[in-house]
Amino acid sequence: MASLTFLGAAQTVTGSRHLLTTASGNRVLIDAGLFQGRKELRLRNWAPWTSGKLDAVVLTHAHIDHTGFLPRLCAQGLVRRALCTEGTRDLAWLLLPDSGFLDVRVDGKRILFSGDLGRYGTSVPVRAKVVQMTGFSAHADWMEEDRWLARAPSPPDRVFLVHGEPPAIEAQRARLSAKGWRVEAPQPGQEVQL
Ligand SMILES: [Zn+2]
Repeated sequence: MASLTFLGAAQTVTGSRHLLTTASGNRVLIDAGLFQGRKELRLRNWAPWTSGKLDAVVLTHAHIDHTGFLPRLCAQGLVRRALCTEGTRDLAWLLLPDSGFLDVRVDGKRILFSGDLGRYGTSVPVRAKVVQMTGFSAHADWMEEDRWLARAPSPPDRVFLVHGEPPAIEAQRARLSAKGWRVEAPQPGQEVQL
């Protein structure tokens, strides 16, 4: 029987990592994201990986909370292959390599770069005007999610709600449950049989 283990983004927004183990024993990690935000969350990025080797990592998109943990897994030789769209690959190529040379500080409304972007030992000067963007690439709100779910040809067997703070998750769980759907809000580390 297949199973799904919620290793991140469970009852929180970031750290998207969901381990799908197929009935034949293949192990696929859906997203390898970094936890971001509060220190208690960020510390989870440094916890030892105890979920073993992965046949594949599937990246849904390039955001760091979906991809930023991949270098760490690869460095430990745990990933056989990573799968994603070409667009995600192109963005991840920029986002994932060592960003240690890039020091971004938010100073009022200004963001200052000190140092250059470093990739594989080379240094790429940052010659860009840095602007702060709002409302770009945001997550869907519950109404957008509802519209997307309404396109399903038939009600899903089960819905797992992740990638949200507990109050938002609970509110969406209540709304979708009212449709008669089987909706679950997994806890961190929870494994469900599919
Ligand atoms: Zn996200």
